[in-house]
Amino acid sequence: MREIEKLKEAILKEYPRLDENSTFKFRCHKGVPCFNECCGDVNIFLTPYDIIRLKNRLGIKSEEFLKKYTLTPFDKNLKYPVLLLKMEEDDKKSCPFVTPDGCSVYTDRPWACRMYPLGQASPGEGAGAISKPFYFLLREAVCKGFEEDNLMTVGEWLRDQGIIEYNEMGEFFKDLTLHRFFQKGGELTPEKMEMFFMVCYNIDKFRDFLFGSSFFVKFDVAPNEQKKLKEDDVELLKFGYAWLCFALFGEKTLKVKEQVLNDKKKELEKKQKK
Ligand code: SF4
Ligand code: SF4
Repeated sequence: MREIEKLKEAILKEYPRLDENSTFKFRCHKGVPCFNECCGDVNIFLTPYDIIRLKNRLGIKSEEFLKKYTLTPFDKNLKYPVLLLKMEEDDKKSCPFVTPDGCSVYTDRPWACRMYPLGQASPGEGAGAISKPFYFLLREAVCKGFEEDNLMTVGEWLRDQGIIEYNEMGEFFKDLTLHRFFQKGGELTPEKMEMFFMVCYNIDKFRDFLFGSSFFVKFDVAPNEQKKLKEDDVELLKFGYAWLCFALFGEKTLKVKEQVLNDKKKELEKKQKK
């Protein structure tokens, strides 16, 4: 993890910053001599939306996906849990999804795989103020894609790789992970870390939790909204972000039912009289 921190620092200080109109030359296709070389021995951080896309692509539950395909790196400096795609134990440390014909989950590949050779960073990360994010080029020595004669803008690349949709979902996650609570040095308790992990990475468990507990007895959520949460992982994730803001940061993103508030009030009054 220390190497990743060093890379982050270098990116913020040294890498040329690109915007959506900046151009670069790159093309990746089956004919390049390095085909598949980049799909192994690599740190791929998975976003909550990546997990939803991948586990649904594979037709498995999030719990099974986490067990089979992810690693949870431990670092005491981490403010919230992060997940890495687990590489195979072969000589090349291959990605579990790479085949001789390329990526077997291509249309649902993670954000990081779509972005390459672009990266994205926020100057405010780890420093306090949150500034406008910028793009940069990651030039891996093994990659011959830069030798191809194909000029495009950053914006064209983002659209071509289907990144816009991923970025829209990424904004919710960013609001959470770059929240002022963390910027001001706030730390999550182990219970809140678990809550964060469940909502962001184990979406099916979160659904079981919502529908198997007294959650909807306490919180005001319309029946049609509850129906959506039962059926749609993306809607559930968005709801989960709102719940995390409520539970972790005390924001008024969910409404507690009047009756529950009144009962609580009466209970407190009773205790005070004793
Ligand atoms: S998910 Fe696909 S594109 Fe990403 S490293 Fe694995 S095989 Fe390569
Ligand atoms: S190393 Fe670069 S050009 Fe080669 S397969 Fe990977 S992304 Fe494509």
